[in-house]
Amino acid sequence: MTSLPDRAHVVIIGGGIVGASVAYHLAHLGFTDVVLLEQGQLSSGTTWHAAGLVGQLRASESGTRLVQYSAALYQSLEAETGLSTGYKECGGVTVARTPERMVQLLRTAAAAEAFDLECEILTPAQALERVPILETGDLQGAIWLPRDGTANPTDVTQSLARGARQLGARIFERTRVIGMTMSGGSVTGVRTDQGDIEAGIVVNCAGQWAKAIGAMAGVNVPLHSAEHFYVVTDQIEGVDRMMPILRDPDGYTYMKEEVGGLVVGGFEPVAKPWVSPDQLPYPFEFQLLDEDWDHFEILMESALHRVPVLQQTGIKKFYNGPESFTPDNQFILGRAPEVQNFFVAAGFNSVGIASAGGAGRALAQWIVGGEPPSDLVGVDIRRFAPFNGNNQWLRARVGEVLGLHYSVPWPNREFQTARPFRRSAVHHLVEQAGASFGSRMGWERPNFFAPQGESPAIDYSWGKQNWIPWVDAEQRATREAVAIFEQTSFGKLLVSGRDATTLLQWLCTADIDCAVGRAVYTGVLNERGTYEADVTVTRIAHDEYLWITGSASVNRDRDWISRHIGPKQQVSVTDVTGASAVFGVMGP
Ligand SMILES: Cc1cc2nc3c(=O)[nH]c(=O)nc-3n(C[C@H](O)[C@H](O)[C@H](O)COP(=O)(O)OP(=O)(O)OC[C@H]3O[C@@H](n4cnc5c(N)ncnc54)[C@H](O)[C@@H]3O)c2cc1C
Repeated sequence: MTSLPDRAHVVIIGGGIVGASVAYHLAHLGFTDVVLLEQGQLSSGTTWHAAGLVGQLRASESGTRLVQYSAALYQSLEAETGLSTGYKECGGVTVARTPERMVQLLRTAAAAEAFDLECEILTPAQALERVPILETGDLQGAIWLPRDGTANPTDVTQSLARGARQLGARIFERTRVIGMTMSGGSVTGVRTDQGDIEAGIVVNCAGQWAKAIGAMAGVNVPLHSAEHFYVVTDQIEGVDRMMPILRDPDGYTYMKEEVGGLVVGGFEPVAKPWVSPDQLPYPFEFQLLDEDWDHFEILMESALHRVPVLQQTGIKKFYNGPESFTPDNQFILGRAPEVQNFFVAAGFNSVGIASAGGAGRALAQWIVGGEPPSDLVGVDIRRFAPFNGNNQWLRARVGEVLGLHYSVPWPNREFQTARPFRRSAVHHLVEQAGASFGSRMGWERPNFFAPQGESPAIDYSWGKQNWIPWVDAEQRATREAVAIFEQTSFGKLLVSGRDATTLLQWLCTADIDCAVGRAVYTGVLNERGTYEADVTVTRIAHDEYLWITGSASVNRDRDWISRHIGPKQQVSVTDVTGASAVFGVMGP
């Protein structure tokens, strides 16, 4: 093995599918002085035991486009590298047991059309034609996604790694990162058990270990592992290689063909968090966790019902592997707000195989271009606050997150777990007034007020919402009389210093050089001329401004302002969100 270089332009930590994809795409973008470090062997962390589903339709257009790119890449990679990815485009059938689920599938079909993805609505009989082992007696209908496929996760990783190597990237296995060297808000290199490397840029692709790696540089990467299960069955008559992926979300399960049998896995409603991110064992290479048939029972029972032939089929192997989940079920991508030159791609919530191609390309473009290449707000690492990195808080939350994959994605759904976290000074009064609380950035905040005698709860449905008449009354009161709004959760940044006015004039579209005491509503644009934020800036002293932004945007905005402070400018940015309550008094 060649020895570690003293220096590399980019050092990637983690040789799972994500790290390999980032290396591959950086090399393709001309960043070839790349070193990837893997503590074990390539793919030996979580990637090797993934089921390999590549389901293309995601909740958002940008998420869907990422996976569409992954699927195309996995199909074309062999021609470039000579290594197959095992990709097969077998399609996918998703079935609905309830009318509510069927509405979701119809909406899914509409979204697919908008995202240029083929999708067909099926009757139960048509679903049976596609999956002949299916029990259809209790089904409302189904959808067919012909472009869905499966890949071999280890083969994809090896193929990406070879593609990266062919262009000059260097990969070192059995090289464990044990620390970082830092200087003035930047990372200058990584320390490994094989020696140190200076680095211009460090990329954290360490999967479930990414939180610990982030901590070495003072970067918050909020993720926590949960145990994640599937079984592989003996061969089954009638199951052929191109059997579509079968998803039965009302029964929490999915199935796919594997060597003539089935992989049966799923997303149970209450998950089983694994050990705390700071207690992950080492070494942990090509390793599984103990079987837990009690926990798997809810999935197995459902699978036996949906595919009755399983009742006469033996189980070859039980897989229980840890996968990392994030507070909001979206992965974590982008440049860390705490450190100038530290990037993260981790926390893939059990869709890392499907996402790796697109996410790896997006991060590589971000590193090379300096800005996110598309709308990646939903996965941007800057959406998190320090409290999201609390291990106890994370443990409470991931128990709920895993199950979200197959729960009905109701409009206005609120998380149930790890709440309440932050409460305003008048929380008790608002509660007494009948508030139904939602949670943003950990803040409990009133979504609406129920009249006396009514329960202040959202009755989740696709139809007209139960709270609309109550909000209607609130709007009328505001329009015709007066209303008080409890807005304490708004993000508040204090921007002060000799050059605060010059900096804010550069960042804001409106003229903020106003009289002390005045507030200006303004857009904040990036170099592409698109919005980074829209905020209210209040001048509270000659060289001091209060920047009021959305609850969820405060870290993102602080990062944006901080990164634009010139080397000779004197400006400080302080998050003062918790320091003051905010009330809006509105009405004629
Ligand atoms: C049972 C199961 C089924 C799944 N099924 C699917 C599926 O069907 N479809 C899908 O899309 N996803 C699936 N997933 C999820 C998928 O496996 C993961 O999202 C994906 O593998 C994450 O890849 P990664 O590269 O981020 O992490 P990893 O593969 O874990 O890679 C991170 C690497 O970093 C290395 N590392 C850690 N610390 C250090 C250090 N200090 N120094 C050097 N190296 C270090 C580790 O050794 C590891 O190899 C499944 C997961 C499980 C558990």
